[in-house]
Amino acid sequence: MTMKMKARGTSDGSCLACVACSVWLMLFTSQADAADTEMVFPRSEWAKADPNSQNIDARKLQTAVDHLRAHAPRDGINELLIVRLGLDETGKDGFKIDDATYAAFLRKIGEAVVADRHATPERMTLIDVKTTPLYARIKKSIDAVRAIDTHDHLRAFDEIPDRVGTPQGRGMTLYSVWSHSYLRRTTHISPWPADGAFDTWWKMAHDDFDDARATSFYRYLLPAFRDLYGVDFDTITADEARDLNRRIFENYRNDDWLRNVITERANIELMFIDPYWYRLQFAREYRFSVPVLNVTTIIGAVHKDRLQTDRDSLFAYAARKGLSTDTFEDFLKAVEALFTDAVAADAVCLKSTQAYQRTLDYATVTKEKAAAVYGKRADATSDEQQKLFEDFMFWHICKLSAKHDLPFQVHTGDARIQGSNPMLLVDVIEANPQTKFILFHGGYPWVGETGAIAMKHRNVWIDSCWLPTLSYTMAKRAYQEWLEVAPSDRIMWGADTVDAEGIYAATEFTRQCLAEALAEKVLRGELREEHAERIASQVMRDNALKLFPKLKRMLWRSHKEN
Ligand SMILES: [Zn+2]
Repeated sequence: MTMKMKARGTSDGSCLACVACSVWLMLFTSQADAADTEMVFPRSEWAKADPNSQNIDARKLQTAVDHLRAHAPRDGINELLIVRLGLDETGKDGFKIDDATYAAFLRKIGEAVVADRHATPERMTLIDVKTTPLYARIKKSIDAVRAIDTHDHLRAFDEIPDRVGTPQGRGMTLYSVWSHSYLRRTTHISPWPADGAFDTWWKMAHDDFDDARATSFYRYLLPAFRDLYGVDFDTITADEARDLNRRIFENYRNDDWLRNVITERANIELMFIDPYWYRLQFAREYRFSVPVLNVTTIIGAVHKDRLQTDRDSLFAYAARKGLSTDTFEDFLKAVEALFTDAVAADAVCLKSTQAYQRTLDYATVTKEKAAAVYGKRADATSDEQQKLFEDFMFWHICKLSAKHDLPFQVHTGDARIQGSNPMLLVDVIEANPQTKFILFHGGYPWVGETGAIAMKHRNVWIDSCWLPTLSYTMAKRAYQEWLEVAPSDRIMWGADTVDAEGIYAATEFTRQCLAEALAEKVLRGELREEHAERIASQVMRDNALKLFPKLKRMLWRSHKEN
């Protein structure tokens, strides 16, 4: 009996590292001891040794092997791999092993399992799929996709928010990046101090992250610090933080950094920009910008006193165009004019974020009833009347969406979590088969419901934008579930953030999540690797090109690069 220590299985379909057919024996000793013997693991090569040289009773081992052989399942045992991790300092078997060595050991097992393509969920619990060569290949292919980001909030460079005063002048800081990150939703970030000094801020802020370490709202941003700045934020020191802050400040002296990070590092070719700070305009600030018509404020526009700024006001828009809004009919004509302008300005879709204000339960309401509410001031409109008007307008906009071929991105799930379950939209979806509905954020936390809606209705797409940032684990599960219940051409993604660091980080987080979801499916034998890579390209790019054919005109990378 020889102890085999090797990393790969045989190629004849034998099953190395398969729990059902072979066994792992793990014996532990210290690395110091290993250096004096035949053992080479965890160095680069695996070695063979006989039991006696490892202080193992060959007779007992043979008994154990015979027992296994006698109880082997029908396909038998092809190969028995016995892995020895070492002895402790006293030369006795023990479990003294450092984390790095153990991680390296698991990686070896992962490689062996992948090499044999016999992964089962039980075996997968032992393996971090991200340590496998399969994951590395899928991730590499996802990274190479020139992404189309179907949802983001990037403003013109000078308007990027949360710049603060510093001794060097006004600019972006480490505080700015965290301040407009999603972490703010669950965690207090200390305000920028009056003296504008980074050290004053860091003294207060460095504890802010303590309770957030495991949250996706914290972790999604880490790839930006790691990849763009070479800093591990989990273990950052005061000196590293000060230097990081300085570099962020320098990077925003002009817009070169922003453009480079988005197009080169994040590898984004086109980005849909939802301009919630100035809804009724279609400016293209960047070469990669794709305009979106945000209809949220139009849906509720009973009277101009409902609008906080002229930027979001259809009444102001109509006035600029010389159009009347005296009657409800006039108003609807102005809406139609806006849609025509949007199409002419290359807007490719509509977006509603009403889930932040109200339920997604849109009842069918007659035009007469909506007209009766139109023009009433806020103080003369009951909540019920307001809802009636909005219900009518939402249905009306669904019809305009089909008429102008502007697919409708609808925020579903986490905003208000009361009334944002995407199931509330099913009647509208069913009654408007010509309207292409895009359910945003995978309907988090109702990702299963969202998949079911896409399964039942061909006019539904799912946008996973923001979902990995909300919960990485749920996003991974969602990608796997959705691919099981709906065709793979119905899923998209978006970074959904506001600056270079956020966009890079959310993009990388999404690519990683998708790669992990797909690699697990391949490992379990549920998907072939080449099909996984095709799906990855669909989610990151191709599905958007198919759903929004106008995008083809906006592609700007050279054909060869594409
Ligand atoms: Zn958004």
